[in-house]
Amino acid sequence: MNVDPIFSRADMMEENSSIRLKKFLLKKRIVQLLYLEGNKSIPDIGRATGMSIPTITRTINELIDEGLVLDNGIGASIGGRRPNLYLLNPEARYVLGIDMGRFATRISILNLNRQIISSDGIIVSELENDESIVEKIFQKAKELIANTGIDYRKLIGVGVAFPGLIDAKSGMSQTYKNFSDRPLSRFFEDKFDLPVFVENDARVMALGESYFGLAQGKENVLCLNIGAGIGLGMILNGKLYRGNSGFAGEFGHFEVEPEGKLCICGKRGCLETVASGSAIAKRAQIDMANGMISILGRLTDENPERIDAETVVKAAQLEDQYAIGLLSEMGEQLGKGIAVLINIFNPEMIILGGKIGMAENYIIDPLQLSLNKYAISRIKRDCQIVTSKLREKSALLGAFALVIDKIFEDLKEYPNNKF
Ligand SMILES: [Zn+2]
Repeated sequence: MNVDPIFSRADMMEENSSIRLKKFLLKKRIVQLLYLEGNKSIPDIGRATGMSIPTITRTINELIDEGLVLDNGIGASIGGRRPNLYLLNPEARYVLGIDMGRFATRISILNLNRQIISSDGIIVSELENDESIVEKIFQKAKELIANTGIDYRKLIGVGVAFPGLIDAKSGMSQTYKNFSDRPLSRFFEDKFDLPVFVENDARVMALGESYFGLAQGKENVLCLNIGAGIGLGMILNGKLYRGNSGFAGEFGHFEVEPEGKLCICGKRGCLETVASGSAIAKRAQIDMANGMISILGRLTDENPERIDAETVVKAAQLEDQYAIGLLSEMGEQLGKGIAVLINIFNPEMIILGGKIGMAENYIIDPLQLSLNKYAISRIKRDCQIVTSKLREKSALLGAFALVIDKIFEDLKEYPNNKF
């Protein structure tokens, strides 16, 4: 496997002599510091790592020679001589982010400043039935890499947001049978020859929100991924919550309609069958086939099969009464579910994301009314309900955070000043 000399883990080093290990850890610690906190002077880095000025100067010079660190010139004076500032070279390394959905996959390349530097690679394919999807993703990623002109060896890892249940111990998908015979990461590692980290999509979005979105600096936040299904990623006590086996957050699958419609999980009347993107698309398709009057007809050339959740949102934005009514009912149903979450978790914030999050007011207003009815008002008062500001990028940014988190994980075993 292609393992980067700095962005690899201490335990992956072939030769583990203590001097080499110390050097490696110090470089990595400096890179982490610049990644997390931006510009730093040599005295700043000395204080943060507990190492001497000559050692830091030598190490910084090596990092500059290796292209990882840039000399940013003279900083602001804080009395006395003004120190030179150093920063991480954003183009030194890249992460590949893959956001897989039930019906479409999005691929992007991000630099170390977590900016998306490639065009969007979108693959429309049904995850359930497509055996060749990993190969298609690999080909698309190669195309993006070629178009941006970056060196493949500068990729440090791949972060994948994957839908459905993923067993925490085996790393295998429990939802998609074509992905259930080996750990999910293996499917991608075999193609990419890079470290690959896979996590449930709603949880990846929560990670993105927690690092770069509205959940930044917050301890207890619930993130809802409302797309084809309904996912829930939880940040509890400042940490991503996975549950005992890695299955926590299956919020879409509790019964709201006894004897309701059949759900993809095999049960009936789940929240997902009334309040997800697929659910409202399906309802609009049936209503249109039965002669309902709506702009949806014009938007789809009178072809009900062409209605998807985004078309319903678009119709609502054109003030179509039918579509507004449909989204409003969806908001109300979601509110019933979210009321339960508020009562149980007492979160400070709930972030609505995913494709349907974009319908904003059409859903949030009825949702709030529903919360007034079903949540305990004293608990609700402390909880803000917002829509994601990262929007469709939250999973890609989360995938980036997933890779960087794993890469710096080994430093936790070697606390500061102990190199
Ligand atoms: Zn279900």
